[in-house]
Amino acid sequence: METARKLFAGPVTFLKSAPGLEFLPPADVPEVAFAGRSNVGKSSLLNALTNRNSLARTSNTPGRTQELNFFDVGEPLRMRLVDMPGYGFAEAPKDIVRKWRFLVNDFLRGRATLKRALVLIDSRHGVKDVDREVMEMLDKAAVSYRLVLTKADKIKASALQEVQDATSAEARKHGAAHPDIIATSSEKGGGIAELRAAVLEAIL
Ligand code: GDP
Repeated sequence: METARKLFAGPVTFLKSAPGLEFLPPADVPEVAFAGRSNVGKSSLLNALTNRNSLARTSNTPGRTQELNFFDVGEPLRMRLVDMPGYGFAEAPKDIVRKWRFLVNDFLRGRATLKRALVLIDSRHGVKDVDREVMEMLDKAAVSYRLVLTKADKIKASALQEVQDATSAEARKHGAAHPDIIATSSEKGGGIAELRAAVLEAIL
């Protein structure tokens, strides 16, 4: 955990946004990608993970360009974080959803340096059908992934245990998912050290 803390205490810099596969940075360092429904708390979690206030910008709005955002971690460069576009807008236009699916699927299937994905799940809501679709995409692309609960401070400890158990049961149904769930709170800092360790473990 100390090594993981040090990794994220060093330089973390925004590298680029890729609205399409032709804009991807070279596949030259190990990458860990973050995915989740819009508003799940992904930007907040990326900021907490890297100890920054505004590295990742909050909430894409529906219809906004769907992009993969890349962040370089470490000096010398050790790894890259990939912020995947949020999904599951109720009112998202069909062509946006299609574009999202193509971009994400092509990235997941074709990115040799992608070591793991973290799929964020809101503690209050648990795994939804849109999350299951993404989990299936990851299973099919053979990208190993972990489910991470967000906003753990928003529910009681007993409810958190229940959602953790249900989420773990869900993970066990999926070939590429890790059965252990990390519960986090960007607000209170809970689970962040564990998440850092999970990211580091993925690239070793
Ligand atoms: P994104 O759309 O997935 O990037 O989500 P954001 O990071 O923008 O978070 C969505 C909303 O949830 C914002 O109002 C955040 O302040 C709030 N939020 C995010 N993480 C936490 C958390 O750990 N605890 C609490 N209480 N609120 C959170």
